[in-house]
Amino acid sequence: MTNINSVTGSVDSSELGPTLTHEHLRVRTVEVATQFPHLYNRIEELQLAKEQVLAARNDGIQTLCDPTVMGQDRDITFIREVSESTGMTIIAATGMYTCRDLPEPLRNKSIDYIAELFIRDIEVGIQNTEIKAGFIKCATDVQGVTPDVEKIIRAAARAHKRTGVPIMTHTHAASRNGLDQLDLLEDEGVSARAVIIGHSGDTRDMAYLSQLLNRQAYLGIDRFGLSVGIINQERPDLLLKLIQSGYHKQLLVSQDYCGSIDWWEREEVRSFAPDWSMTHLTHDVLPYIIDQGVAPDILSGIMVNNVREWFEYAANDTY
Ligand SMILES: [Zn+2]
Repeated sequence: MTNINSVTGSVDSSELGPTLTHEHLRVRTVEVATQFPHLYNRIEELQLAKEQVLAARNDGIQTLCDPTVMGQDRDITFIREVSESTGMTIIAATGMYTCRDLPEPLRNKSIDYIAELFIRDIEVGIQNTEIKAGFIKCATDVQGVTPDVEKIIRAAARAHKRTGVPIMTHTHAASRNGLDQLDLLEDEGVSARAVIIGHSGDTRDMAYLSQLLNRQAYLGIDRFGLSVGIINQERPDLLLKLIQSGYHKQLLVSQDYCGSIDWWEREEVRSFAPDWSMTHLTHDVLPYIIDQGVAPDILSGIMVNNVREWFEYAANDTY
């Protein structure tokens, strides 16, 4: 029993149901969107997000975690509107998607100053609303742990220890930098069981994944539909291998789908990721895994119990 902040109010951890832990309703580039707004259409973006979320809901998904944060133009009223109109429980994040340098206003600020920003999102509300964040996101990419990235990870750790809200990361799996993240988080007193090392499915490096698992972290196998790090067709077998190796209690699955994203034209996305959607898992991947002999209750354990336990464990991992 843990109270979790969703964008429409508090939900109990027992009420989450089948959950996709890493989907974006919309990703935009704030500098471009504010200066050249004619390139964007909010009504269309809302429509695209609602269509995907409704399709996932029709497939039995009850909850989405949306890790869109600073660096991806998070708009909390957009997220709430999609949740209200679709009936999907959506849990929004605080944190930063910053892979190298903090923006100028934050560069000379302390770790605790940044932690307070996250805590405000969790305890008071996001963007001057009363909508509260339910988890904390931080990122490490090819640049590795730069001084600013270290600051953000330590700030995420301190905000977690103060609030009991769990942590989800973005990694560049080929650089094995989930291990660096765990080093920093543990140095701040965070239990690895409160942490999802995101994008861990982007590698076939089982030695790396075993190290993360043996340290008790959760792995986000969260880019079904995309060829990043490995080709998309390899992903179901990676999931199968991890389940067959007995790690099913530490896995979370998702698609990192973006209802819309301004990095590419939509036709480009369709050509490089034709299977990518918020229902690729439920339509294609999970039936394949069951066909390979995995019991359905293992999969519901991954999609329901693991998510619940991530939140519940984190809630007790406080100062
Ligand atoms: Zn993402």
